[in-house]
Amino acid sequence: MKKTVYLDNAATTMPDPRVVEAMLPYMYDAYGNASGKYSLGFKARKAIEDAREKVARLIGAEPDEIFFTSGATEGNNTVLGKNIWKTLITSDTEHKSVLKATDVYKRNSRCFYAKTDGKCCIDIDSLKDRIEYFIKNQDVKDLSEDCYNGLVSIIRVNNETGTEQNIKALSDTAHEKGFLFHTDAVQAVGHIKIDVKKDGLDFLTASGHKFYGPKGIGFLYIRRGIKPYPLMYGGEQERGIRPGTENVPGIVGLGEACRIALAEMEEDALRVCSMSRLLKERLLKIPGSKQNGLGDRIFNVSFEGINGQSLAIRLDMEGICVSTGAACSSGLDERSHVLTAMGLGAYEIDSSIRISIGKYNTEEEIEFAAKKTESIVSELRELNGGYTVKD
Ligand code: PMP
Repeated sequence: MKKTVYLDNAATTMPDPRVVEAMLPYMYDAYGNASGKYSLGFKARKAIEDAREKVARLIGAEPDEIFFTSGATEGNNTVLGKNIWKTLITSDTEHKSVLKATDVYKRNSRCFYAKTDGKCCIDIDSLKDRIEYFIKNQDVKDLSEDCYNGLVSIIRVNNETGTEQNIKALSDTAHEKGFLFHTDAVQAVGHIKIDVKKDGLDFLTASGHKFYGPKGIGFLYIRRGIKPYPLMYGGEQERGIRPGTENVPGIVGLGEACRIALAEMEEDALRVCSMSRLLKERLLKIPGSKQNGLGDRIFNVSFEGINGQSLAIRLDMEGICVSTGAACSSGLDERSHVLTAMGLGAYEIDSSIRISIGKYNTEEEIEFAAKKTESIVSELRELNGGYTVKD
């Protein structure tokens, strides 16, 4: 069988075998409901609380600030969808789980999308201007007591371009104006150092499967003292913020992924970034290629005169997995809203692919992927009437 060269780690990652090992006992012997008042239940409860500590340690939070969710879609919706914010400010390059939640929200409230530049960086001055505009124009009398002033929600590392935001500058801007700050840190947690206190975060969302943990489990960090509204109603699990029987094996796996990340992420990141830069350099030497955004571990490139989807299919035939946009939108025949917001034209968007390297990639795989991409790009240009790159 052909070896798979997996270069789509922003879509999901292969679980670390230690994560799977840690989960197994909670599927076989220790299957109790964590609310059970007997030893099987106590064992599950202890496993959940141990995992909560590991998650908290990874991001510099307190355990009681961590709430387990089914993933970042749920986390983002909990923060944005149900809370009553007088004003919500986000950006046009957010993940769909933020943008669609704000679509629902903006029916009863004010919502503004901060501008992103051609490299996918948020323009802080435009953010400041918009916050000031809303402060001047708000009608305070309409607001209930439970209503927070406003929220700024900005993605930490963009999932399509890999561009990182200066999160401290953004959270400072929000706080100066009395707004709370949320970041969707799905593509950052477990890969780069996060300290919720130093970064000035009020909320953070993450998903286990993006950093070698299991799918269908994630967490939401909520700074002590903030009381959000739950998305669902039911039992008192997760202090009522996330009712429903806990996914104990998933939570244990997530905790183990956090423990591993804390111990190994720095060293892994050096290797991952050096492989990623190597591949990027090789691809950017192909005439008519260009990087969209500023990412390293995750990066997006366009190749003049070819179709990104055809390139991805041809690479797949060689066993190489890359994507042509966010995994969650790739089922739709839609152009990337992120690249569109960055000002790219349809032609450039259609000729782009996203590559994301992970800790299980090797230098041989990088060399193989570089060679195959070089030859497939020139083959596709041949097929495209012998397309020649413009100067
Ligand atoms: N935010 C970002 C930036 C993501 O990349 C993703 C996953 N593609 C999500 C949110 C949603 O995560 P999940 O699918 O695990 O709920």
